[in-house]
Amino acid sequence: MKKVFIYFFVFLLVFFLLPALLTKKNVEAKVPENNVEDSIEQVSDNEYDYKNYGTIKLLHSDTGEVEEVPLDTYLCNVVSAEMPVDFELEALKAQAVVARTYTIYKIQNKKHDNAGICDDSSCCQAWLSKEERFARWDEEKRESNWAKIEQCVNETKGKIITYNGTPINAFFHSNSGGTTELPVNVWGGGTNLPYLQVIETAGEEGYSQYQSEAIFTQDELIEKLKSKYEDITIDFNNNDDLKILDYTDSGRVKTVKFGNHELSGTETRSLFDLRSTNFEIIKEDGNVKFSVKGYGHGVGMSQTGANSLAKEGKNYEDIIKHFYVGVEISDVNSL
Ligand SMILES: [Zn+2]
Repeated sequence: MKKVFIYFFVFLLVFFLLPALLTKKNVEAKVPENNVEDSIEQVSDNEYDYKNYGTIKLLHSDTGEVEEVPLDTYLCNVVSAEMPVDFELEALKAQAVVARTYTIYKIQNKKHDNAGICDDSSCCQAWLSKEERFARWDEEKRESNWAKIEQCVNETKGKIITYNGTPINAFFHSNSGGTTELPVNVWGGGTNLPYLQVIETAGEEGYSQYQSEAIFTQDELIEKLKSKYEDITIDFNNNDDLKILDYTDSGRVKTVKFGNHELSGTETRSLFDLRSTNFEIIKEDGNVKFSVKGYGHGVGMSQTGANSLAKEGKNYEDIIKHFYVGVEISDVNSL
């Protein structure tokens, strides 16, 4: 008689209780799918929601075409064009945050009428299509290089640099020669910003961008100067006729005397195509040699300096706060 009860109980369990329990579970499992709050949480776990800057309008300067692209896709193209991929991860992450900040700043300050930013490095910041970028990398390293760039952009999603709650004008350059420059000494009056100061960074000298030289014969030097100053005359036997007159606080050249004219350091840099305004003038074997330290205008973050700091164990936030004084790392959606 006991056996009959057991069979009956098993029968009940298999045909009624278990299906009922399973059905209940299914019903419960379906609830979160219809729950709006839960589904938003799930999306933000995987994909950052750029409220105002989901896509940007990129002007291709050679064709004049304006392309609308997701911000972080654009940033991968910028970071891979602006910084060597074999640099440290934290340096590349700093570059990603700097490039994101620079982009938002350009959009907000409307540099271009019909686009947020352009792909010309001398106007906005460098950009290379993935195809162009791949063509310049060794074939076996292309995918892993790109994955490294994507990792740096993804791990800093939504992060920008702010000062008093607004995005900074995040200038950057290749190599500071050991000391960064104030914007007023590069672009003139009224361009100084409190977060851009003279900053020293160790380790800049270990890079190929640190040291360069440009040599001109006396005739070549005169010819270049004549393109701007027709009446130029220099007595090369007189040491006072060709010399640096003064320097900026960062040690860069402020004014140079070329015979009967005085040129600024930045004008001299551009006329003789020097890598920076941090130079010495040396007369050697009848030629004039510019011995140059650093590469670029010298304002804001130095890329090789960022790499040196990363090698010392600094993270991307430390690196950014080293080059930009008094800034915060903020979320772009808080703007
Ligand atoms: Zn531009």
